[in-house]
Amino acid sequence: MISLYFHIPFCTKKCPYCHFYVIPNRPAYQQLLADSIALEWQMQLPLIQNRPITSIYFGGGTPSLFTGIGPILEKISREPDCEITIEANPEESSYELFSHFVQLGINRLSLGVQSLDDRSLQTLERIHTAAKAKQAIHDAAKAGFKNITIDLMYDLPGQTEESWRYTLDQLQDLPIQHLSLYNLTIEPHTPFDKRKVQTPGGELSLRFLQTALTALESIGLKRYEISAFAIPGFESRHNLGYWTGRPFLGFGPSAFSFWEGERFRNVANIHKYARHVRLGESPIDFREKLSYAASIRERLAIQLRVKGGASLDQFQIEHETRQIIEKLKAQGLLIQQSSQLQLTEKGMLYYDTVAAEII
Ligand code: SF4
Repeated sequence: MISLYFHIPFCTKKCPYCHFYVIPNRPAYQQLLADSIALEWQMQLPLIQNRPITSIYFGGGTPSLFTGIGPILEKISREPDCEITIEANPEESSYELFSHFVQLGINRLSLGVQSLDDRSLQTLERIHTAAKAKQAIHDAAKAGFKNITIDLMYDLPGQTEESWRYTLDQLQDLPIQHLSLYNLTIEPHTPFDKRKVQTPGGELSLRFLQTALTALESIGLKRYEISAFAIPGFESRHNLGYWTGRPFLGFGPSAFSFWEGERFRNVANIHKYARHVRLGESPIDFREKLSYAASIRERLAIQLRVKGGASLDQFQIEHETRQIIEKLKAQGLLIQQSSQLQLTEKGMLYYDTVAAEII
């Protein structure tokens, strides 16, 4: 089984915390991207042929702005129950657009809601309002999406516990089946970084998380990965692939791939990307093949993100890593039952520490 990822870099406005490769939505870029992805598809087709495709993900950027989704999907012969996700932002959403996606066979929608408090949305300099976000979710459900996920962010500059609870309290009225929860990270070289924007962090950040865990559990969204929550049966097949080492191929500028134990990324520039594929050259500008031992450590750390953890039977773990695992168990961050290793509740709060120690 394999997965496919398409990076569609268009955004109406770049958010001040965003570190993804995004470009303005211009007609010339639309055509360039459509033509280039078609060429890259032809180049990669021999790798894909005869490999069952279990999930397809259009990420970005804002892929819902791309007019070339239909022609891409027409080319892909996939498993009948293939999970097909598209990301969208509330401000460019409508019932008509979502109905069009449903007709194309897209069966999962990921909406960049981020907050249901207008003050927080203003802090993030998002261009949608909470009312528009809720409208978009209802439009998606009305258009026929039965699998809707939203992104929420916490630990925002100036955010209070009252504001966060206000966002969480509104979730119960929304027809969502999945939710991804992130704390705001100030990435280097972003406008937030240059402005030295501060997040609450520390104890308050932990309280935001605890409040969210309680609220999400109470509306039936179960935590199945560090940052992912779903009604049972609606776990993201595509993301589970990332966490369990399923091979995936990425298309488009800046798209990552993981294939035959190697990680690689296309150049993060639409003009360079387009030129390479037009000349029949590889658009990859970064490749990494970890040593066997390093790849085992990385796979173990990533797989621990998932609630069920990792079975140590599938890994040949070196002595040094075993010692680290024992130390993390003694610190109450990991628990082992026969060969199954998983994070404790405390380990889930401090996953970054666990992963850094193992890798
Ligand atoms: S909408 Fe998403 S991808 Fe686009 S600029 Fe904002 S954070 Fe980045």
